[in-house]
Amino acid sequence: MIISSAPNPNNCPPRLILSLKGLGRSFGEREALRDVNLEIHEGDRIALLGPNGAGKTTLLKIIAGTLAPDTGRISLNGLTPSQARAIPGFLGWLPERAPLNPDLTVREHLTLTVAFLGLAKKEATERIEFLTQALHLEEKLGRLAGQLSLGSRRQAALAIALLVPPQLLLLDEPTSSLDPEETHRLRETLASFPQTVAFLISSHVLEEVAKVTNEALILKDGSLVSQKPWSDFPMDPEEGYLKEVSSHAAL
Ligand code: ATP
Repeated sequence: MIISSAPNPNNCPPRLILSLKGLGRSFGEREALRDVNLEIHEGDRIALLGPNGAGKTTLLKIIAGTLAPDTGRISLNGLTPSQARAIPGFLGWLPERAPLNPDLTVREHLTLTVAFLGLAKKEATERIEFLTQALHLEEKLGRLAGQLSLGSRRQAALAIALLVPPQLLLLDEPTSSLDPEETHRLRETLASFPQTVAFLISSHVLEEVAKVTNEALILKDGSLVSQKPWSDFPMDPEEGYLKEVSSHAAL
């Protein structure tokens, strides 16, 4: 299933949501990102791919405002990442390590989030119920986040990220802690979002991420080496990705 781009009845160009110019970030001697330029418009559904250590998490952290770049400019609808994060419902964000408060239960995290998002009580209850079932969180609702396994913490964080359709959804390896049924429900949840919602989803599970995105962006050694629609891949996602990565081996 290839997800189509957002419908555009008025023939207006899709709104620019994210612009990165010359983005760079190093950790000591290690250049994790170098001169990354990227634009994301509403309705773009982008898979963020690349070998281990390519810079995917670093890029997502910078967009989400939890890490500052060393060089370059970043604009989210004209805002800085921290300004964008303060706007309820602008960013949905599943980090690699879920920053949950260890002394709050999963239910308390979800309730606080719907309050921040300003959801009406009925809608809030329905969304919490839906995501709790979809991600098999029923038995974890009453448990303190600090007592959850890493996988359960990520499931709770994923539920938080998906509570409302944001303008830009950033997911760092969302299926890494999900069983096949939960993965299926995640796919359904993403498909139920309005087509204007933009996705940037990092993953090593190519067949799965290709089902919920329409283009693939490949990072290698911190550089953006390829961005093209899945439909331009001559073969299946995995073979196409491997061919694309090996063609940039000399970098
Ligand atoms: P993976 O697919 O394994 O999750 P990735 O593509 O997400 O990898 P990053 O986690 O962004 O890659 O890391 C990019 C590079 O930056 C790696 O070499 C990593 O070791 C390094 N790096 C990332 N964060 C830090 C940090 N806090 N301190 C030192 N080095 C870091």
